[in-house]
Amino acid sequence: MSARPPAGQRALFEPQAVAPSAVSRLRALALSAPSRARRAGSRVEEDSDTLEKLRGYAVDLAARFGLRYTSIEAEAEGVVEHYGICYADGRIRIRLRHATTGRLLKESSLVDTVCHELAHLKHFDHSPRFRRFHERVLAEARRRGWYQPGRAPRTTKPRLLWEVVR
Ligand SMILES: [Zn+2]
Repeated sequence: MSARPPAGQRALFEPQAVAPSAVSRLRALALSAPSRARRAGSRVEEDSDTLEKLRGYAVDLAARFGLRYTSIEAEAEGVVEHYGICYADGRIRIRLRHATTGRLLKESSLVDTVCHELAHLKHFDHSPRFRRFHERVLAEARRRGWYQPGRAPRTTKPRLLWEVVR
């Protein structure tokens, strides 16, 4: 029951003639589809790494201020009405990516959003009391080195140290 042809018929199968197109097909695949998959994969990985980091901050900040939440999740793609949202049942959702560019938001913005939503666990409004409390949570995040507004993102072009002017 072997699929292999008898020795005399081997020439009919011309395996050498088939090989180059198979190889070029594989090469084309290696150049297109897998790199797309890799890009998609790195985006998913980037999101989960970022979320993991934010969750770590939230656990500690919530403990520090005696806040209780249910979960911290990434906001669904396409939801652009807010940067974050806190539901009455303690669920918090954070938008990780820019609405139009799709790029990951700056970490300082993300941490600010987390602090804002955590503060809503205590004050479910935007009253002066809420704003004062948000500032306290943010100050704690800053003290711990998690909130660093103004720090240049890693992806910016290197700054010129000097320029030759003629
Ligand atoms: Zn709010």
